[in-house]
Amino acid sequence: MASTSATDIPAEVQAVNVPDGTTDFIPLRGKKYDLKKPHITELPITWGNWYKHVNWLNTTFIIFVPLAGLISAYWIPAQTKTILFSIAYYYFAGLGITAGYHRLWAHTSYKATLPLKIWLAAGGAAAVEGSARWWSRDHRAHHRYTDTDKDPYSVRKGLLYSHIGWMVMKQNPKRIGRTDITDLNEDPVVVWQHKHYIKCVIVMALIVPTLICGLGWGDYAGGFIYGGILRIFFIQQATFCVNSLAHWLGDQPFDDRNSPRDHVITALVTLGEGYHNFHHEFPSDFRNAIEWWQYDPTKWCIWVWKQLGLAYDLKKFPHNEIEKGRLQQQQKKLDQKRATLDWGIPLENLPVVSWDDFVQESKNGKAWIAVAGVIHDVGKFIQDHPGGKALINSAIGKDATAIFNGGVYNHSNAAHNLLSTMRVGVIRGGCEVEIWKRAQAENKDIATVTDSSGKKIVRAGLQPTRVTPPVTTADAA
Ligand SMILES: [Zn+2]
Ligand SMILES: [Zn+2]
Repeated sequence: MASTSATDIPAEVQAVNVPDGTTDFIPLRGKKYDLKKPHITELPITWGNWYKHVNWLNTTFIIFVPLAGLISAYWIPAQTKTILFSIAYYYFAGLGITAGYHRLWAHTSYKATLPLKIWLAAGGAAAVEGSARWWSRDHRAHHRYTDTDKDPYSVRKGLLYSHIGWMVMKQNPKRIGRTDITDLNEDPVVVWQHKHYIKCVIVMALIVPTLICGLGWGDYAGGFIYGGILRIFFIQQATFCVNSLAHWLGDQPFDDRNSPRDHVITALVTLGEGYHNFHHEFPSDFRNAIEWWQYDPTKWCIWVWKQLGLAYDLKKFPHNEIEKGRLQQQQKKLDQKRATLDWGIPLENLPVVSWDDFVQESKNGKAWIAVAGVIHDVGKFIQDHPGGKALINSAIGKDATAIFNGGVYNHSNAAHNLLSTMRVGVIRGGCEVEIWKRAQAENKDIATVTDSSGKKIVRAGLQPTRVTPPVTTADAA
């Protein structure tokens, strides 16, 4: 960890160092919590106190104001120019969150020059989702404590909670996981935006769109309602989907132990933040989508800014590491599938039968056939044998290793697999029946390959009943 001398950090953002290397988060605005008093969230919600559980400031901004905007829109006609501007401003604000708050400040997946930082901080303020400092602190906790109680927007508490509930309801500041934000406290743009957050919001989210539409084409009211309030509503709902939809809908190509998922719909809604399973595995990668054809406009913008000299040090995880993660998850899925299939009783769990008993039981009516030292009960299969009843009947009570492995017909891998499900015993010692043991001894690796649950993996062509006949050459004679 880079050590920073206390003098580098503005005095008001210096916080107590804690033994895990993080620093306590200290609010720069608003009241400081008295950590000794019980927080309202520690009390159950009742008819008498429910309103104390609601975060009214957030509720006003993300529910009441948009509702008022929707109603007002009835009286204010939507002009084409205003709508086009609102869409452009939507992208400006959205990128402030995705490229600014998320990939630049929360994850430091690239570095930005001062003009770009100011641009992103302004865009982030226009989205009205809290300051970059506050947002990044929570987001780092979300990554560090994903799906646990310390995750500020854990999807385990329900899809609605992860989407909006965590903002509408008060959160216990003692509960949210601690994260290190010393780097953000050293970033003057972040600290300034945090301290002047309310002013930034009023200017960037409402005044600027109102003035642009008003001075540009005389639509002050439309600029305020469409470019301001309704645009804020849409950008909030879209970016909230990163916390809800991205933890609920889609595939898990890199790790399925936690909730993050990849889905193109989430990507379309969130300016490319939808490849969230990848993102949680490789959070400091400036990309969310790693394939060129996947939708990640945030990545494209960062790349363009790099070409313009505004962004640098774009971080990428090595392809080798990404593919390793993907392969391991594929392997895990294969193992899970393997576990659902019938591979026959493992050889070590089969009873050991002497050759004489094997012959005797076969004479007594059991349809037993020995192949490579393993006894198989083919009784139920005789009728279905593709090679006919006579051939299989002729092998009952005998060692059919050579016949099965090419003497009469070199059986397919599928036939060896099917045969393994008919195992009933192993022959003790003697003659040709030892062959599989020898074969296994010669292929020690094959005999010991197990999957992640400890079950043996039987690869194609490597069933123990498969025996290659010895190659006879002129020299050997
Ligand atoms: Zn997440
Ligand atoms: Zn993230």
